[in-house]
Amino acid sequence: MPTYNLAVLPGDGIGPEVVAESVKVLLALEKPFPNLRFILNEHPVGAACYQKTGEDLPADTLEACRSADAVLFGSAGDPNIRFDDGTEIAPQLTLRFVLDLYAGIRPIKQYPGVTPLLTENPPIDYVIMRENTEGLYASRGAGVRVGDDVAVDSMVITRAGTERIVKYAFEIAQERNGAPKDGVRRVTCVDKANVLKSQAYFRELFDGVAKSYPETALDYAYVDAFTVHQVRRPDFYDVVVAENMFGDIISDLGAGTIGGMGMAPSADVGDRYGIFQPSHGTAPDIAGQGIANPVAQILSASMMLTWLGMRKDDDEAREAARHIDSAVSRVLESPTSHTADMGGKANTTDVGDAITSEI
Ligand code: ATP
Repeated sequence: MPTYNLAVLPGDGIGPEVVAESVKVLLALEKPFPNLRFILNEHPVGAACYQKTGEDLPADTLEACRSADAVLFGSAGDPNIRFDDGTEIAPQLTLRFVLDLYAGIRPIKQYPGVTPLLTENPPIDYVIMRENTEGLYASRGAGVRVGDDVAVDSMVITRAGTERIVKYAFEIAQERNGAPKDGVRRVTCVDKANVLKSQAYFRELFDGVAKSYPETALDYAYVDAFTVHQVRRPDFYDVVVAENMFGDIISDLGAGTIGGMGMAPSADVGDRYGIFQPSHGTAPDIAGQGIANPVAQILSASMMLTWLGMRKDDDEAREAARHIDSAVSRVLESPTSHTADMGGKANTTDVGDAITSEI
């Protein structure tokens, strides 16, 4: 019987509110999938934890992440609680480096009943593969400030770091059905190869890996132009790969095109560990009001089951993930299950309850 030991890190802001809904959904799966069992243990992380203990990622929490089968993470940080150097508390970034979670997988998929930003409404279903451990964010905590006049952060692109994320992107393309527009399996390299040496190198490494996947169509876009394509022709995209900061920015724009941050799940995975967290942050403007959209968190739990299913060769976990996706689809078709970010009146628990009862 597959029993999964999950470390649950609710964190700050709306994190605990949306995590509670995803836990509800996971536990509801034990009924239609009697062989599936979850052992869930909560651990402290984030800004409130830092204020209380002086640590944003206590050693026990890190150890729990290492020993769990997977980590379900809410969100962490608080603009009013910062480190002494003024930077925000972001244990989720630390975890990516410490656990070597090099692949940030961000599906951008439109669900029925959700009105996107676009006027035309083309079908949207692509995955952004964000490199998580280097790129411009390699400078986190290591940039240089020279007096009052100059500050420098560097873009770091390595062969090993780039090849593994690009390979992952091509592997994910093999599992999918191609772009909604034409059914073509396509991997798009998003970069700034026309201006930066580091980015020309990223593209060169992309081309090298692509040679092993001759059946997959190749595509290239400069990151600035790509933001326009995301709005004008999102149906052309299947899998997209980019360095860390570009991946961060295009993920948020992608989320905007499918109904907002509350709709965009994400996974940060490496060869050994996986953390599943929505693309959004702590949303301090709406925290504590019970109105956050829990769908991104619930779909992140679904991504966790897909990943566990692949790692443990467990068809039931994979099927349970599809079960969550179709329950979300059915629930969102009704505007009565839309939260305020989607123009509706439902609260966080209404949506979680509706998805749970579909399951
Ligand atoms: P971070 O820097 O951690 O990404 P942020 O404050 O820049 O955090 P978010 O926390 O993602 O960004 O919030 C951006 C906007 O999206 C806010 O107005 C927030 O209320 C909204 N938002 C984010 N997540 C949700 C959600 N689950 N439901 C409803 N609105 C959300």
